[in-house]
Amino acid sequence: MNIEIPHSALVVGAHPDDAEFGCAGTVAKWTRAGCEIHYLMLTSGDKGSEDPEADLAELRQIREQEQLEAAKILGVAGCTFLRLSDGEVVNNLELRGLIVREIRRFKPEVIFTWDPLTRLYRMHPDHRACGQATLDAAFPAAMMPHSYPEHLRKEGLSVHRTKRLLLFGTDDPDYVSDISDTLELKFEAMRKHPSQFSMDNPAFMERMTKRAQDAAKEQSFEFGESFKLVQLEM
Ligand SMILES: [Zn+2]
Repeated sequence: MNIEIPHSALVVGAHPDDAEFGCAGTVAKWTRAGCEIHYLMLTSGDKGSEDPEADLAELRQIREQEQLEAAKILGVAGCTFLRLSDGEVVNNLELRGLIVREIRRFKPEVIFTWDPLTRLYRMHPDHRACGQATLDAAFPAAMMPHSYPEHLRKEGLSVHRTKRLLLFGTDDPDYVSDISDTLELKFEAMRKHPSQFSMDNPAFMERMTKRAQDAAKEQSFEFGESFKLVQLEM
């Protein structure tokens, strides 16, 4: 199956670096083709350190800066940070409303986010909550004028119907994006997150390369990113 490259897309991640792991190769490919892509990060990853003495405000700043630099490499138009507390993301009506607002603001044709229903049980709870809240925001809340009506009445926004979502971190992929031409850019963007992992670690690089190869295993191309496709527009 082939999905035509849309005019606009939104990536909703729980932490800085989620998007680089999940969909950066596809993001780079699409922005090259003229697609306008925005990032929405629910938290700024302010607990992403194993150092008990870490300054969390400083860590937040570092991680936002890392995300901005990674996004720049991929041609992303802008990043919004909601600055929720890392590790404490809960899918509730408030979070749904925050995501609905960004969907109504950017009006993406496609949304990338985590697959909340994956059976890979070793999953960060923020990722699960992020994926579920984003699905619930895109369908049907963002398209319904009586959901979060203050966006329409007070903020000048209008309802929006997203065409489809591509869910990363899935155990049940049914769409593979060819990232053979942009794998290097994905790695270059990942290199902008030195507070989290080192791209100079050969075992890590091997694992990342194998992941991209495995995704493309049954395809006619070399490297891929795999997703669960959710069609909202039939
Ligand atoms: Zn994460």
